[in-house]
Amino acid sequence: MTTILDGKTVAAERREQIVAEAQQFIKQSGQVPTIALLRGGEDPALLSHAQSVRRSFEKAGFGFAEHALAADCPHEEMVERLRALNSDPAVHGILIQEPLPASVDADALLLLLDPRKDVDGVHPLNAGLLQQQRGLYHIPSTPLGGIVLLEKYEIPLTGKRAVVIGRSDIVGKPMAMLLLHRHATVTLAHSRSENLPALCREADILCVAVGRAGLVTWEFVREGATVLDFGINFVDGKLTGDVAYQEVSEVAGAITPVPGGTGPVTSVMLLANTLNAARWLAER
Ligand code: NAD
Repeated sequence: MTTILDGKTVAAERREQIVAEAQQFIKQSGQVPTIALLRGGEDPALLSHAQSVRRSFEKAGFGFAEHALAADCPHEEMVERLRALNSDPAVHGILIQEPLPASVDADALLLLLDPRKDVDGVHPLNAGLLQQQRGLYHIPSTPLGGIVLLEKYEIPLTGKRAVVIGRSDIVGKPMAMLLLHRHATVTLAHSRSENLPALCREADILCVAVGRAGLVTWEFVREGATVLDFGINFVDGKLTGDVAYQEVSEVAGAITPVPGGTGPVTSVMLLANTLNAARWLAER
């Protein structure tokens, strides 16, 4: 029998815990953990993401602010706004929504983000601290949510073969690192990997973060493997992952559905990261 890794239920449980911890924090510190979203332009995908973060934060009693600059805003204007958010004591987390306008140097901007407020875990300092497991750092919420799901369902990781498809700084690479830290033997695959289906069939745990609907078919999956699907695609207006769910769920031992798998847990991990940021800043 295939286990459905039910992200909605896991997220609801986690959310309840985080909300209780946040209420405690608010009582003690008088501060409301608050996130600010920074973007240029009104791309519908960015607006829809901002809307879903807003709903999640407001429902949890967290603060939320949106800073939308013009689609052609000069780099310096974006830098100025980021600096203002960095030094605003009422803002604990900052999420820079990408893609940024062509007029903005995204790499340069990222380096100016206060790493303590980097609740997406994309600043190189956080990525490096995660890699070396040193001190306090933010872990990107999507792979963190993936680990929460694996741990909740007690999927064994130590000594197991894990394959991650996708090598982005926000999903694939940190997911590989988190699995490695839990003593899995990890392969990081990408668009230029050869013999991808055979490579993936070696996996006890297969994590997919590509953004291509239906990329992973039953031929990629070893009987009984655990499959985490991070993909977000819209096919004929319908949300779907990177995994051909029907056929793969007949082979897999455990699998995340899309929707209702990794997505809801990601959104709760962003709350957790923002609460952590507020705590760290309060301890300064
Ligand atoms: P990205 O575009 O930055 O990276 C995609 C990766 O996929 C690249 O490393 C590339 O090498 C690899 N790739 C591309 N084509 C491939 C192929 N044919 N075979 C193997 N590898 C291939 O994307 P990202 O930001 O990492 O996001 C990946 C997916 O995860 C997207 O669908 C995105 O929307 C989704 N996502 C989901 C969540 C969530 O909460 N579930 C959060 C963030 C991103």
